[in-house]
Amino acid sequence: MSAEKAEGLILRVTDFSETSRIVVLFTREFGKISALAKGGRRLKGPFESALDLLATCQIVFLRKHTSGLDLLTESKLVTRFHPQERDLVCLYAGYYVAELLLGLTEDYDPHLELYAAAQEALASFATTETTRLGILRFELVVLREIGQLPDFESCVACGTRLTEGRTFGFWVSQGGLICPDCQKEEYTQLSIHAGTAAVLRVISGEDDDEWRQLNLTPQQYKEAKHVTTTALSHILGKRPKMLKYLS
Ligand SMILES: [Zn+2]
Repeated sequence: MSAEKAEGLILRVTDFSETSRIVVLFTREFGKISALAKGGRRLKGPFESALDLLATCQIVFLRKHTSGLDLLTESKLVTRFHPQERDLVCLYAGYYVAELLLGLTEDYDPHLELYAAAQEALASFATTETTRLGILRFELVVLREIGQLPDFESCVACGTRLTEGRTFGFWVSQGGLICPDCQKEEYTQLSIHAGTAAVLRVISGEDDDEWRQLNLTPQQYKEAKHVTTTALSHILGKRPKMLKYLS
C-alpha cells in the first residue's frame, strides 16, 4: 500500500461499524475512490468531523493494490457545502451533483474539468436564482466529460444543420438532434428550437464564464432540460432519483 494525498468532494458516507465509516469521494487527482475511515464515527479523531456529505477535504489515504477499500488516514476540511438556509432546492441540487458523479464516473478515472465543474456547481447553488442554470451547466459538463455530449449543430442522421426558425427533435438513443425529414412517427418528442441548440452549445462549452451571462426563456430552459435529463437517464439506465425534487 502506498500513501496518497488528494483533494476530494464527499459523495456518500455510510456507517460501517460502531466506529467506522465508508466514504466515497470524487477526488481531483484520482477520480472516484471508496475508502474506509476507521474511527470516522468518533467526534474526535483523525477526521475532525470533516466527513460530511458534499464537504471538500484534503485527504491522505492508503491505496489498496488489490480489490477492496482504500484506507482513509487523514481528512481535513477545506469547505462545507453551504446552500441558502431553508432552501431545499439548493440542497437537493447538491445531492443531485453527488448522484451524477456516483453513477457516471469510474473509480480511479480522474477528470480535472469535471472536478472543477462540480465545485463550481456547488458554489452556484448558494441561491435559488443561480441554481437552475448551475444544474444545467453541470449536467452538460458531465455529458461532455464522459464523451456523451450530443451534437447541437446538425441532424444526427443526415447532417442537415439546425438553422434559425427550424425545430429538430432529440433522438436519445443516437445521442443527437434529428431533423423533421428523418423523424419517424413513433418518435413523439419535444421540439428543440435553433435558439435552444445555441444556448446548449454555450452552456456545454469550455468557456467558464460565457454561460453565466445567458438569460434563457422558459421555453429554452424547458427544451434544454429535456435534452439533458433524457440523455442522462438514458446513460444511467434510469431517471436520476433527485430529479423529482428539483422540478
Ligand atoms: Zn435529418
